[in-house]
Amino acid sequence: MKRISILGSTGSIGQNALDLVRQAPGQYRVVALTGGDNIYRLASDAREFGAEIAVTAHENRLAELRDALEGSGIAAAAGRNALNEAAARPTDWVLSAIVGAAGLEPGLAALRDGVTLALANKESLVSAGPLLMSAAARSGARILPVDSEHSAIFQALSGENTAAVERVIITASGGAFRDWPLQGLAEATVAEASRHPNWTMGQRITIDSASMFNKALEVIEAREYFGFHPDQIEVLVHPQSLVHALVGFRDGGLMAHVGPHDMRHAIGYALNWPDRLVLPVDRLDLAAAGSLEFFNPDNARYPALGLARQVMEVRGLSGAVFNAAKERALDHFIAGNLRFTDMHGVVAGTLDHLSSEPGLIDAEITLDSVHRLDHLGRIAVDDLVGRKPG
Ligand code: NAD
Ligand code: MG
Repeated sequence: MKRISILGSTGSIGQNALDLVRQAPGQYRVVALTGGDNIYRLASDAREFGAEIAVTAHENRLAELRDALEGSGIAAAAGRNALNEAAARPTDWVLSAIVGAAGLEPGLAALRDGVTLALANKESLVSAGPLLMSAAARSGARILPVDSEHSAIFQALSGENTAAVERVIITASGGAFRDWPLQGLAEATVAEASRHPNWTMGQRITIDSASMFNKALEVIEAREYFGFHPDQIEVLVHPQSLVHALVGFRDGGLMAHVGPHDMRHAIGYALNWPDRLVLPVDRLDLAAAGSLEFFNPDNARYPALGLARQVMEVRGLSGAVFNAAKERALDHFIAGNLRFTDMHGVVAGTLDHLSSEPGLIDAEITLDSVHRLDHLGRIAVDDLVGRKPG
């Protein structure tokens, strides 16, 4: 039986993963589940799946988690170290589905010989791609992408010579405001930005889809994971979200990955890799889908994509700054301190500010330097906004 742990099990990706486990009785043994605020969900899932340990990120919620697990024999723990320890427990497979830069350390802790780290947490690749990839290479662990576009690219590359790849095309739905008049965007509310046209996901990635900060992260993620040159990575708006990505080869062939909007495909693919097992996802009826449309993204509507190009050019620790600034700008938007359209300027300003300080962004990439730049990025955003998000 495959032994698995899920970091961020109470979230959208985590719940989809547990659904796959639920629907394949006897196939997987759940070792550790981790979450944040949602103690009820964490404890009830730990009981349902007979986990060995449940961990909340919040130390002040430990007593509540212990109470909720009383009599079950399941260990309870809390805090950052406990999360890292849970990630490092012996298993065959770990899903990194924590949202944000908080996923980096547990992801690194999970890497050891023979383990597969299924990576939904794109923020860790954007912030510290070289750190994660070299730790995997050193430890003998394997990282598999779970982001739907990157899973699509991975699948299209299967059996291919990567030297023959000319370009990859990542698709984007266009998010909540794809068809809004540009002048209306400044007044967009958090509730409006939280409605994705196609996918049901956590709130933060949904808002990032409306601004295309999510696609900006994904372009960098493709660069860090697959090692493509930035010029090889293209983005197309595809309102139907059925083609997740395409890989173009030097003979002109273009391999597209097509499927319904259901993250259980990408999660299940990583869960069972290198096998393909039956998955409970809808089979696509292309005739019912009718037409597939593709457009070039409009830079005025989605300026975040330009920032991804800038980050890929500079590299070093600019990914850590970009991700932290994006996370903090989003905190401010959610808190009502920043307009939707002002997130871009604040992130760009933070990148410019920290790039101009000698020795910061070009310092060696270590966990400490990533944490430092992440911290400085958040402070710079607060300074530009003139307050803290809380
Ligand atoms: P979510 O907000 O629904 O869930 C996040 C999970 O992380 C929860 O379990 C939460 O308790 C936990 N968490 C939050 N803050 C934490 C912290 N500081 N420390 C430890 N744990 C913490 O998010 P999601 O939509 O499931 O996304 C998870 C990750 O997967 C993100 O990196 C996202 O970009 C990526 N992703 C999500 C989707 C999707 O369909 N939802 C698709 C592709 C990639
Ligand atoms: Mg994606």
